[in-house]
Amino acid sequence: MEIFKFGGASVKDAASVKNVLRVLQKTGFQDKVIVISAMGKMTNAFEIVIAEYLSSRDIPGKSLSVIKEYHLDLAHQLFESNQAPVFEKINAFFRELTNFMKHNKSVQYDFVYDQMVCFGELISSTIVSEYLKLQGIEHSWIDARQFIKTDSTYRDARVNWEETQEKITHGVKPGKLYLTQGFIGSDANNFTTTLGREGSDYTAAIFAYCLNAEKVIIWKDVPGVMNADPRMFENPQLLNQISYEEAIELAFYGASVIHPKTLQPLQRKEIPLFVKSFLNPGDAGTAVSKGQSLIPEIPCFIVKKGQVLISLSSLDFSFMVEENISDIFKLFHLYQMKVDLIQNSAISFAVCVDNRFNNLERLIQHLKARFKVEFITGVCLYTIRHFDDLSLKTLEKDKEVLLKQVTQNTVQLITRT
Ligand code: ASP
Ligand code: MG
Repeated sequence: MEIFKFGGASVKDAASVKNVLRVLQKTGFQDKVIVISAMGKMTNAFEIVIAEYLSSRDIPGKSLSVIKEYHLDLAHQLFESNQAPVFEKINAFFRELTNFMKHNKSVQYDFVYDQMVCFGELISSTIVSEYLKLQGIEHSWIDARQFIKTDSTYRDARVNWEETQEKITHGVKPGKLYLTQGFIGSDANNFTTTLGREGSDYTAAIFAYCLNAEKVIIWKDVPGVMNADPRMFENPQLLNQISYEEAIELAFYGASVIHPKTLQPLQRKEIPLFVKSFLNPGDAGTAVSKGQSLIPEIPCFIVKKGQVLISLSSLDFSFMVEENISDIFKLFHLYQMKVDLIQNSAISFAVCVDNRFNNLERLIQHLKARFKVEFITGVCLYTIRHFDDLSLKTLEKDKEVLLKQVTQNTVQLITRT
């Protein structure tokens, strides 16, 4: 079987939904599981509704109607008749959501979040399914929550592989076309759980693993994975092939390729994953698979802005050794700093961190009790995988480099902006 995933951008409006059909016409209607995300930026819109509901305990009429209007509008563009079953189905989902808010007693943010945010995927997959039905495409809409079984870590659920495998083996048969939701699953009590933001790719990988699929295709609004972010670099180039290991490395340095969590089940069964353009489905796109680490073997550029460079030295000129360093790392962990780069010498220790949770000030205060501390905020961390002289020179040009670290395959530069 093949597993297709259409993300938010690929179902963001009526034209995009029509394009899903076009992609299927080109690739065939059989032997597939199609995983659909919430439409456009709808998950963000649901997050607003959830936050308002949890702070006021009232039904946030205004932000909820934004979501409802968006879906109804889109459906009106796809379905000529107001009597089309899709409208009753959309309304039923909103009734269910409203009922949940009326009767829910839980104040557990993450639990409530999952029970509500799932409607983005449920509605989106229903609209696409009804549209395919209207076009005479035979398929089954399935509720991913009956297949992806997880623990009860709401918003970041761990898959129960045994149960999931059993449900999928039992309920998904080769040859047919299935349509389901990304991102959502359910726990032992059948409450909805989610796999973390952007979790739909992972859903596709889970289905692929359990079905021993031939491949996964992620359909996007870009030609594939590029060697640099087109918004920051001129002439980015398409990467034709990336090994699983290289994709994990790129993700580690901050490239928005495929999440390692998604790659792991695929790598275990050596199932290739393709990133392709939903506008040009005939193009090859990028393959992430077993084999050569990178084709073409060109430098890959990754940029992380707004990082913090912290330099620490001991107050008494003693060496920076294991004990100090381990204490420092405990603090990074405590203040949820993601460490991007480390460089140490006898009496000093420099790190570049990502201040994701705005805990910098508290961290610095804490560090100052034991170390001499200097720090610069708003620095830029550049990583080049597979660098060469030219790529490095080009990047360094006109920049004030604060720190540079070179290893065999990778160079990292920290610059002031
Ligand atoms: N709709 C969810 C999100 O936006 C899941 C996904 O798109 O992968 O995070
Ligand atoms: Mg999404």
